[in-house]
Amino acid sequence: MSMLTVENLNVYYGMIHALKGLSFHVEEGEIVALIGANGAGKTTTLQTISGILQAKSGFVNFQGKEITSVPGNQIVKLGMSHVPEGRRMFSNLTVYENLMMGAYTRKDKKQIAETLEKVYERFPRLQERTRQLAGTLSGGEQQMLAMGRALMAQPRIILMDEPSMGLSPLFVNEIFNIITEVNKQGVTILLVEQNAKKALSIANRAYVLETGRIVNEGDAHALLDDESIKKAYLGE
Ligand code: ATP
Repeated sequence: MSMLTVENLNVYYGMIHALKGLSFHVEEGEIVALIGANGAGKTTTLQTISGILQAKSGFVNFQGKEITSVPGNQIVKLGMSHVPEGRRMFSNLTVYENLMMGAYTRKDKKQIAETLEKVYERFPRLQERTRQLAGTLSGGEQQMLAMGRALMAQPRIILMDEPSMGLSPLFVNEIFNIITEVNKQGVTILLVEQNAKKALSIANRAYVLETGRIVNEGDAHALLDDESIKKAYLGE
């Protein structure tokens, strides 16, 4: 059975039919990319999976459990973290306080402290800035903080929404390297990106979304060489 299965999902914003019978799956250990133009429904997909939005019909199954109507905080406890578009920091809280927010569903203080150590090892820039207010971090540092906060919940899967948004090319590379490393350590990744080239270069598989429907899918490297993908999404 797949780690995450989305089946025939229909999501509306009032009269707008944003997801039109969406189905896809993510296997344990994979990096799966969802690519597509503005408004294709990528953010809506992640928000529905993580319990922020409610589907009108269809199913989401995570690790053998149906989570379609499970509230977001319960979904976090089941092992799913969501790194939202625009990072959504608590700007007036410190780096440390933001990280601890990520552990809000956990109780064991010793284990939380161990996870914090690991997050600081992975992100030395965050350790240097423990007491700095999150709102004063650079865009790339905020993306690191958002990822660190997600890792504080000890997830089995991370849903990442547009990690490259607003970052300089240097930081984009760094963030994508970190995503690959986190994945190598056993965390499955569902990655939403406008930067299709970057996403496909680190993903195992990908789905192409157009106006709420999947129009193409396959091995990520094969999609990088696909003429129609190159033309529509890779600017070639
Ligand atoms: P982007 O990369 O621009 O964020 P996206 O692929 O993530 O695009 P969504 O944000 O999921 O796309 O939007 C899918 C569709 O749903 C769009 O047509 C959008 O206008 C619409 N939509 C999204 N949020 C709302 C909302 N809160 N109210 C009404 N319509 C919405």
